[in-house]
Amino acid sequence: MELYRLLQQQGFGSRKECRQLISYGLVAVDGEVIDDWRAPVAVESISTLTVDGEDWPLLRLPLYLLLHKPANYETSHQPMHHPSVYRLLPEQFSRLDVSAVGRLDVDTTGLLLFSSDGQFVHAMTSPKKQVAKLYRVTTKHPVTAELLQRLRDGVLLHDENETLAAEQVEQVAECVLDMAITQGKYHQVKRMVAAAGNRVEQLHRLALGAVTLGDLAEGEWRHLTAAELAALG
Ligand code: URA
Repeated sequence: MELYRLLQQQGFGSRKECRQLISYGLVAVDGEVIDDWRAPVAVESISTLTVDGEDWPLLRLPLYLLLHKPANYETSHQPMHHPSVYRLLPEQFSRLDVSAVGRLDVDTTGLLLFSSDGQFVHAMTSPKKQVAKLYRVTTKHPVTAELLQRLRDGVLLHDENETLAAEQVEQVAECVLDMAITQGKYHQVKRMVAAAGNRVEQLHRLALGAVTLGDLAEGEWRHLTAAELAALG
């Protein structure tokens, strides 16, 4: 691949801008300055690009990322009242059109995926996909057998014309339950629990399909593994 194309792919600017950066001698590949924008480069063997004095590890694209979202971050590029979740990802990624796969509410914590692969984001959020999203729900009032049964049977939410049922639901502690849903309606878990007669105090997403948070610390991110990506299929 020609060097300017690689630079463009990695998000360093337009074709013209990348060619200029190279011609001005501002680009080095693994420490060696290359000022011919047509120069062929072996992408597989490169580890670092230096652009205008800053070192950047070469990114394997597209990006598939998993973040452990903390509370008080908005899943939005234009947040209103809290910082954006995108601030928790390296600045380098912001040049690559990375989007969140769905949204978590500002007070919800846990697993949030991101990708620079638009088709992946679209497919994962499509209602047809039906990926199970597993939440740990802390409730205001003790969990009862009736609450679990109502969630299993399905509840009718305001503005929906079909009942929504939990794919799986089980009690974990007096005021804690685990609940999986396959849809991704607005505030779905909170509204379902309210419709079933309780109230969500805390919400934490544990898993999406076979992908789990594991021991990733709050506020940290990691790349998805090839096996996780394949499992999301
Ligand atoms: N359901 C909710 O109510 N909130 C979330 O953030 C995710 C699912």
